[in-house]
Amino acid sequence: MNDRTRNDRTRDQYAFSDPSKLYAEFDPAQQHQSEPGLDAKLTPKPDLGEDTYRGSGRLQGRRALVTGADSGIGAATVIAFAREGADVVMSYLPDEEPDAQSVAAVAQDAGVRVFTIPGDLRDHDYCRELVDRAVDALGGLDLVVNNGGKQVYVENITHLSDEQFDDTFKTNVYAMFWITKAAIPHLPPGSTIINTTSIQAYEPSPILVDYASTKATINTFTKAVAQQLAPKGIRVNAVAPGPVWTVLQVTDGQPPEKLDRFGENTPLGRMGQPAELAPAFVFLASAESSYVVGETLSVTGGKPTP
Ligand code: NAD
Ligand code: MG
Repeated sequence: MNDRTRNDRTRDQYAFSDPSKLYAEFDPAQQHQSEPGLDAKLTPKPDLGEDTYRGSGRLQGRRALVTGADSGIGAATVIAFAREGADVVMSYLPDEEPDAQSVAAVAQDAGVRVFTIPGDLRDHDYCRELVDRAVDALGGLDLVVNNGGKQVYVENITHLSDEQFDDTFKTNVYAMFWITKAAIPHLPPGSTIINTTSIQAYEPSPILVDYASTKATINTFTKAVAQQLAPKGIRVNAVAPGPVWTVLQVTDGQPPEKLDRFGENTPLGRMGQPAELAPAFVFLASAESSYVVGETLSVTGGKPTP
């Protein structure tokens, strides 16, 4: 047990519980880190499911590549995939090595193989090599999660720099395109690709013009590519999180004064935790979703989506 501030560390994804009451004592104070930030410095630390996620062999023998895998939603997904029996390659930025190592250690405890391949998703060569190195390390590839993302708020579009606009699109959209393109020749029938989009695709914040635009693009990309790959037996889907407590939010993802009330405008009245997102990725990754193609699975605490 560690020092995490949670009211109920015995909960797992199968426990009967009132979703509006979960994490009730979870009350983050205002805080700030510079990009990309570390989960290790986030207070309270997000729930990645490390004490609670129970696997049941749903991804036995699968070979997964996950980007943005060191922290937040990606890290919870890595832990869940590992406990479901998948070997995993983790992609993240070199500055995030401490988070990556701690998540890799938790995942390895499940008895699977975990490899770390840090680099910058804005770099085309890294994305292509990441896929090749993942195939080598894992002995193949049948599960890709494009989850790495950049979110930096800017109040006024006239202050949104070309550089930021470019970086946000490179990280959130181009990397997904590059990795998907490089991965397809390696993916056998039965493989699954999952992209992380956002409630922002449907309800864009006025201060997240670049970010929200990438998330709408990710949805449309997912639906288009899904139709192309379905006849090959490869399923492509997306997960759309609502407000989730991750380091993305304290690295200028939101104005710090908004963190106090983060997620309170959802019907559940609270923010989500990465551990509540991971089961959506497991569902879309596994064969139990065999007839689900081109879908965006919303995990938004009840915020309506189209
Ligand atoms: P996070 O900060 O824990 O994860 C984002 C990860 O993206 C980082 O850990 C980093 O490894 C990676 N990344 C960013 N820039 C990169 C770069 N240039 N090169 C390599 N890796 C890079 O935050 P998170 O909230 O878990 O974010 C995961 C995904 O979830 C993102 O796509 C984000 O847009 C999406 N999302 C988050 C929320 C939320 O409320 N937290 C809501 C909707 C969607
Ligand atoms: Mg991180």
